[in-house]
Amino acid sequence: MADEDTQFGDFEGFGGRHVPEPLEEPLDQLAETFDEIHDTDEFRQRFRSYLRDFAGRPTPVFHAERLSEEYGAQIYLKREDLLHGGAHKVNNCLGQALLAEEAGKTRLVAETGAGQHGVATAMVGALLGLDTEIYMGEKDANRQRMNVFRMRLLGAEVNEVTRGGAGLADAVDVALEDFAANVDDTHYLVGSVVGPDPFPRMVREFQSVIGREARDQVREETGQLPDAAVACVGGGSNAIGLFDAFRDDDVDFYGAEGGGEGEGSGKHAAPLSEGEEGVMHGMKTRTLEDDTEVHSVSAGLDYPAVGPEHAMFRAVGRCDYRAVEDDDALDAFRTLSELEGIIPALESSHAIALARDLAGEMDDEDVILVNLSGRGDKDVEQAAEMFDLG
Ligand SMILES: *Cc1c(COP(=O)(O)O)cnc(C)c1O
Repeated sequence: MADEDTQFGDFEGFGGRHVPEPLEEPLDQLAETFDEIHDTDEFRQRFRSYLRDFAGRPTPVFHAERLSEEYGAQIYLKREDLLHGGAHKVNNCLGQALLAEEAGKTRLVAETGAGQHGVATAMVGALLGLDTEIYMGEKDANRQRMNVFRMRLLGAEVNEVTRGGAGLADAVDVALEDFAANVDDTHYLVGSVVGPDPFPRMVREFQSVIGREARDQVREETGQLPDAAVACVGGGSNAIGLFDAFRDDDVDFYGAEGGGEGEGSGKHAAPLSEGEEGVMHGMKTRTLEDDTEVHSVSAGLDYPAVGPEHAMFRAVGRCDYRAVEDDDALDAFRTLSELEGIIPALESSHAIALARDLAGEMDDEDVILVNLSGRGDKDVEQAAEMFDLG
């Protein structure tokens, strides 16, 4: 690992670019392309039109009245679950793929854990006619066959990684090597606000449409800004996407991490509430301690680090991060399904569970905006087993 260079993408000492030398030049190029292109009228128009006609934006904000009654605060859901692909991931994938195309790249590579980001990348690769190769740990690929099939149906090559622990971290390593070796024609499409600069600020930019829409929608419907904004945090992209527009407002931020089996179990995915500072995947951030086994009931939160901007928000006290345990997320999963007719992703269920706790601390008329980051169709089989529905 090279330098201590944190001048790029510096989040109060977190972030930066902690990468081997061969990656410096490709990342410089990418940062340059991003800075030059993302703010032009032409790029903005193309991005906006794909977000509308391919992804299905804007997504509504829904006042969940029965849930509000049950939990004791006014709960509004930002419906990212209604997007094409079933989650917020398509926002970022479209943005990066369009950027890659503008930069003359013909090929996308990406890592994927549970497969959701791989599927979203394969969707936009097909849409724009870009060759797409997805690196996925062999263990993950065996657990998530349906997503492997989806990616292949979409025309992507799925490369099952057998090195190391054959998991997400190994897939990231191999994808980075591919990127470094093929930078002339290849873009590495990172799936969250993580990694070396410029990824955290680039992914934030492409996801910030969530909060911009929601800010107008909540104000229109309630005549005020929300008192609290709540999102689940894996790498942290749907949370940053929601928070960004409220950064300078009097709105409290809350992040729900994967609390796994609970405090003291040593099995969780909560580097903000329980981890330590460290360098991982090219960034300075917070990571799990060495003796922790990364675990969450939801595959999308199962990541041993977190985006550097969240590490900064925690350090300066801008956001309150809480570990939500598996059982509480499952309870919220069931409650939202039964009370509102919406089956949430298990990831998003962590945010719902945190909203319940917050409602208990707030007044009945207080407004809580929750990012419903994805739909739960992918989780139904797992839920059927856990709730003994068969
Ligand atoms: C991938 C995923 C997440 C976690 O990713 P973030 O970058 O933390 O947003 C959360 N919710 C859903 C539905 C996902 O698919």
